[in-house]
Amino acid sequence: MRNKDQAVVVFSGGQDSTTCLLWAKKNYKKVYAVSFDYGQRHAAELECAAAIAKKLEVEHTVMDTKLLGQLAPNSLTRSDIAVDTDAPEEGPPNSVVDGRNMIFLTFAAVFAKQRGVTDIITGVSQTDFSGYPDCRDVFIKSLNVTLNLAMEYDFNLITPLMWIDKEATWEMADELGGFDLVRNETLTCYNGVKGDGCGNCPSCKLRRRGLEDYLKRRN
Ligand code: ZN
Repeated sequence: MRNKDQAVVVFSGGQDSTTCLLWAKKNYKKVYAVSFDYGQRHAAELECAAAIAKKLEVEHTVMDTKLLGQLAPNSLTRSDIAVDTDAPEEGPPNSVVDGRNMIFLTFAAVFAKQRGVTDIITGVSQTDFSGYPDCRDVFIKSLNVTLNLAMEYDFNLITPLMWIDKEATWEMADELGGFDLVRNETLTCYNGVKGDGCGNCPSCKLRRRGLEDYLKRRN
């Protein structure tokens, strides 16, 4: 039995995945949100995710993937590694967790198949990929094929934000009636500050630039 009216959303409680959760709520009858505990420095991230899922009345599951943080220590999991203030000139930022999206999507796929669900939604974006190789479209398409072969199943990895920037992501949240929710309740900041964030980390800068651009043309 395939439940085409159901979807699983990979959900961190940040701007992008919350926008995807709103999008999924509009397009599916039942939505499951799955979050991952990979030893992130800020437990606040998982708390935000739980609070938003509750508010949106979405079933929420947190999966333990702490091993990932131990295998690939980085500035999001280790308090002794400072988060880069700006993107490095070469190479990925030190907030990259190697393999993260592959592992998250693989666990989400196992979870989905158990429930007869094929559609899995993730908020990755190639437009704002900031040096994260596993946010690129080619990776998602490749993983989709691999997951289908691995489990002999027709998964459908869906990426509503793949080709849009942060400004358009704000617009999408607004159109879905979630502008205030995304602005005030999500946590995107690498330093663990909810809403508008610390203002200094690369993630806050990217988010704020998009917000300011969107507000200029918002009625
Ligand atoms: Zn920040």
